[in-house]
Amino acid sequence: MNIAVVGGGPAGLSLAWTMKGRRNYEVTVYEGLDNVGYKPCAWGLMNGVEEIVPLKKEHIVSEIKGFRIFLDGKVVHDIRGEERLGYIVDKPMLLRDMASKLDVKYKSNVSVREGKPYVGSEEIHADKIVFANGHYSLPKDRSVPAIQYVTDFQQDPEVVDFYFYSDLLGYAWVFPDRDGAKIGIGGYADVNFLRERLKPLVKGKTLFFHGARVSDTGIVEERLNGQYIGEALGTVYALTGEGIRPSILSAKIYADSLLNDKDFSKEFKKSKLYNTLNVHAKIVAQSKGKEQLKGLTKVLMKSDPKLVLKVALGDFNNFDLLKLLGRTIF
Ligand SMILES: Cc1cc2nc3c(=O)[nH]c(=O)nc-3n(C[C@H](O)[C@H](O)[C@H](O)COP(=O)(O)OP(=O)(O)OC[C@H]3O[C@@H](n4cnc5c(N)ncnc54)[C@H](O)[C@@H]3O)c2cc1C
Repeated sequence: MNIAVVGGGPAGLSLAWTMKGRRNYEVTVYEGLDNVGYKPCAWGLMNGVEEIVPLKKEHIVSEIKGFRIFLDGKVVHDIRGEERLGYIVDKPMLLRDMASKLDVKYKSNVSVREGKPYVGSEEIHADKIVFANGHYSLPKDRSVPAIQYVTDFQQDPEVVDFYFYSDLLGYAWVFPDRDGAKIGIGGYADVNFLRERLKPLVKGKTLFFHGARVSDTGIVEERLNGQYIGEALGTVYALTGEGIRPSILSAKIYADSLLNDKDFSKEFKKSKLYNTLNVHAKIVAQSKGKEQLKGLTKVLMKSDPKLVLKVALGDFNNFDLLKLLGRTIF
């Protein structure tokens, strides 16, 4: 079977990687740009995909063992432990290493005309076409803007900082980077507002500034038809904007469904990933009003930070949810 994958991000490459070497399957990835790994991203990758993608020592910029949560400029939680929560990965390096061992066609922007996929005027002939083209393929009302400064500020390599605000549904972050820090913000506001809000946090010499959009409404149900994976399907945890791991996990579910001759939509709906994405999206959707946002903020401040982390990372059960959210905002 020939499979054409549109987009060489974490989702598309993970699908091709998982299918690599499987008898009877040939996967070609079509990437619109001249390389993979250009998309703006803070490179935070939580534990849980080490067996799916070939994550090596050289891809790991640092291991995250602590996090701080600020509310309106004040620290409310400062947690450090010995356990690794996740990594900062050199995402372009990881993706480029994977791509170098796969069949990737660069400068191959795919467009669909009359239901058929084309690169320029050439039609792609494949038994299956899978869209892994990220937020670019989503309508704007399914995503929010996120901007980021890359600076030479020396952030503690083991700690990530999150800045929440009682008047903004979204948050700012300061993540360690190979040569400094990534300082960004995303949420329900326009880019000018976000830029102003971020100003006090931007430290060090700015090396560059960039931005993109992040899906925040959870799974796009009408795309759950076996033709989409990754952020193009809405696989971003809406509360945190974490999209790398869920995109990789969606690719794995896709590959397993193909290999076991199962229906992807059904398998996906049974997964913990689907449930987590839905819960996150629901919390965000219900926090949009002023009062509801205040409720969420209160939860953040008052709750056990370990519980907040569990829910943020998608590692929760119904009892955890009830403990955390109770009836505060619902
Ligand atoms: C500022 C910012 C910071 C972020 N930080 C984090 C973070 O720290 N951790 C985290 O987990 N997530 C983060 N995210 C989200 C994360 O980057 C994405 O959710 C994740 O990369 C999605 O993976 P994907 O493979 O589905 O799509 P993408 O990574 O968007 O990949 C899609 C690929 O498809 C290609 N493409 C698009 N259209 C076409 C076409 N028509 N033809 C061919 N190719 C096409 C694109 O060039 C791209 O290479 C961040 C997002 C932003 C904007």
